[in-house]
Amino acid sequence: MKIAVYGKGGIGKSTTSCNISIALARRGRRVLQIGCDPKHDSTFTLTGFLIPTIIDTLRSKDYHYEDVWPEDVIYEGYGGVGCVEAGGPPAGAGCGGYVVGETVKLLKELNAFHEYDIILFDVLGDVVCGGFASPLNYADYCIVITDNGFDALFATNRITASVREKARTHPLRLAGLVGNRTSRRDLIDKYVEACPMPVLEVLPLIEHVRVSRVKGKTLFEMVESQPHLNYVCDFYLDIADQVLSQPEGIVPKEVSDRELFSLLSDF
Ligand code: ADP
Ligand code: MG
Repeated sequence: MKIAVYGKGGIGKSTTSCNISIALARRGRRVLQIGCDPKHDSTFTLTGFLIPTIIDTLRSKDYHYEDVWPEDVIYEGYGGVGCVEAGGPPAGAGCGGYVVGETVKLLKELNAFHEYDIILFDVLGDVVCGGFASPLNYADYCIVITDNGFDALFATNRITASVREKARTHPLRLAGLVGNRTSRRDLIDKYVEACPMPVLEVLPLIEHVRVSRVKGKTLFEMVESQPHLNYVCDFYLDIADQVLSQPEGIVPKEVSDRELFSLLSDF
């Protein structure tokens, strides 16, 4: 099964992805997480360091794809989760979306996808070009991370439109939204009323989740010394279990920008 996690920048995609990956591994699945953000910190809390990116590796091999081996680009993280970072072009040059497309191509050529039960793509914010949308060509499910604010829901709506478009030619479904770092959900509820889709889970702001990033650990690792954090792991296990149950998911129909503005504004 292939899962693509999308959402606005800084919304908690990587944090949520790492913890869902471990939750899936806890359920006995072999998991590969592919960071598709030029920020290349997707798997940081799984490995505890910034692993070399595919772009770094390719550069070191003078772009001879045939000299790249799976062990050059796949690092083992906490709980046995395989970790890959696509990386990005030099700042101000090249195209990040192109890098994502090349990463997927390389991993396929390495037959890496066959070694895992679950491939989880953690993809940069808004889907603004075909490259960043390319994980949707492979994914069975898309999960969108959002908070209760306008910007994240605006990005959600654009991702929704991309899923609707891709689902015409690919067996892709939207599994649902994960609300993150929010105690309120009134705008999320307004959005799903206008654009029906499941809400898989809503996580509040949790100080230990913020700290987990600084420590380079997932919540599952932190819980080893702080058992009271078990309740946070349960959020992620719940999301993992919902995905593993192979929900029907939906092919969404986004709302127009004007509709969204009036839906989420006070006037
Ligand atoms: P993204 O991958 O979407 O850019 P990150 O996963 O890197 O976002 O998260 C951005 C920041 O928000 C990180 O410092 C992370 O620790 C923090 N964060 C994410 N989710 C939560 C949460 N539920 N509670 C508190 N902090 C969170
Ligand atoms: Mg990220």
